[in-house]
Amino acid sequence: MKITGKVYLVGAGPGDPGLLTLRGLECIQRADVLVYDNLVNPLLLRYARPDAELIFAGKSAKKHTLKQDETNALLIAKAREGKIVTRLKGGDPFVFGRGGEEAQELGEAGIHFEIVPGISSAIAAPAYAGIPVTHRAVATAFMVVTGHEDPTKGESQVDWKSVAQFSGTRVILMGVERIGEIISQLINYGMTPDTPVAMVHRGTTPQQKTITGTLATMIEVARAAEFKPPAITIIGEVVRLRESLQWFEQRPLFGKRIVVTRSREQASELTRRLLELGADVLEIPTIAIKPPKDSAPLREAVQSIGTYDWLVFTSPNGVDAFFCEFFAHHDDIRDLGGLKIAVIGAATAQKLAALHLQVDLQPTEFTGEALLETFRKEVSCENLKFLLPRADLADEKLARCLEELGGIVDDLDAYRTVPDPDDRTGHRARLLVEGADIITFTSSSTVKNFCELLDVPELLKKCPGLRIVSIGPQTTAAAKAGGLSVAAEAKEHTIPGLVETLLRLGAG
Ligand code: SAH
Repeated sequence: MKITGKVYLVGAGPGDPGLLTLRGLECIQRADVLVYDNLVNPLLLRYARPDAELIFAGKSAKKHTLKQDETNALLIAKAREGKIVTRLKGGDPFVFGRGGEEAQELGEAGIHFEIVPGISSAIAAPAYAGIPVTHRAVATAFMVVTGHEDPTKGESQVDWKSVAQFSGTRVILMGVERIGEIISQLINYGMTPDTPVAMVHRGTTPQQKTITGTLATMIEVARAAEFKPPAITIIGEVVRLRESLQWFEQRPLFGKRIVVTRSREQASELTRRLLELGADVLEIPTIAIKPPKDSAPLREAVQSIGTYDWLVFTSPNGVDAFFCEFFAHHDDIRDLGGLKIAVIGAATAQKLAALHLQVDLQPTEFTGEALLETFRKEVSCENLKFLLPRADLADEKLARCLEELGGIVDDLDAYRTVPDPDDRTGHRARLLVEGADIITFTSSSTVKNFCELLDVPELLKKCPGLRIVSIGPQTTAAAKAGGLSVAAEAKEHTIPGLVETLLRLGAG
């Protein structure tokens, strides 16, 4: 039998990546080909398989874009190659998304398809602006209309008279450019000029911007605010509820653009926390973790693990790299023997806890110096054998000092960090064009690689308000060595500690 592919027409939600459905996520994860457009949050692309083909089909001033029939042809061609194609569309695919047309074409071509509904901006953008589209006693119905067509030219298929006479909330999509004509039509058909109006730009995203007024004032309000699409317009008494129901734009880091430079695998926790606090996060993973150039020393150490007294981890990556090698040669965790384990930081200890391994030594302050101090005070290191599986770039101070305490130290490259030039999310390009408020650094290697990938002094010149925040002293030192001045350093050298510092800065 001929293998045939399938097309999933998936609603990607209004912008906030958390508003994707579970079914939508599954379709992204299993796609061979992902086709997306400009209303789809690029952060969703990181759930794609690394080998998935990503195709931008949307409208954008800069990127090459596909016409609707080219998009249809592409979906059909890829499915005919036997591929799983996930077509991501902003909001819901059938709400002004031309999803119906795409599905019809697929059907006519004999391609299997599935529709995955999404949360439409028509309800989500009002909700994130603090405006319920219905509310008991205020509005018992809502309508969604397109404002795309020119209401004055007689070519509009929208019946503006019935929109004006409707007794509930009116939500207009694609109406920014024609808002003037739309409002005058509505007033012509009898709406009172003091009817409340709100417009929400890029609702549910960190760039959300809401303006409010009345039918009489809105044109001027929008002009003064230089209001731009994509946006929805909400007309009706429910708009007044925003005053007491605002929440999204009130969060502590709302409107702050913050750069996260951690590796792709590690960025998510920091990103998640910052997004929750309202920040506009630019995830620019500057390092990728690779095996060391020469893995023989680590392999030999793992094979003779019984000869060591202490295993010292300085990073979560070190734990991953060590145990990857370890389990390649041992089937049983008990082969670790009776050695003791030391770590610097909380995230590293957490990695070990996941393996049900307790840490024997950890400083209260998460720095290399503090760990050394703890060794000096609590352990007689004379003639003990230490294994330090670390990054190739790591500084050698810890190893040298343990030797000064009499230890025999194997300081090994367990992994390598290399610059990661991939810009799947387009965030690097956005940083260069739009700048940012804060760049966060969480390790000396991210500083080093970030500076290799981007011309930071040039960026700082272009963006004078840009501040650098570091997770701890080593990272700060690396930034200084690279000629960057650090505006703040986390008091507690952890991700929560870093977030705390960002909140302090953000509030200030
Ligand atoms: N299928 C989409 C709508 C596509 S039409 C949905 O269900 O949301 C494109 C229009 O949707 C835009 O012109 C704008 O009016 C609206 N829109 C889409 N995303 C939006 C957002 N995040 N904030 C405000 N309006 C949005």
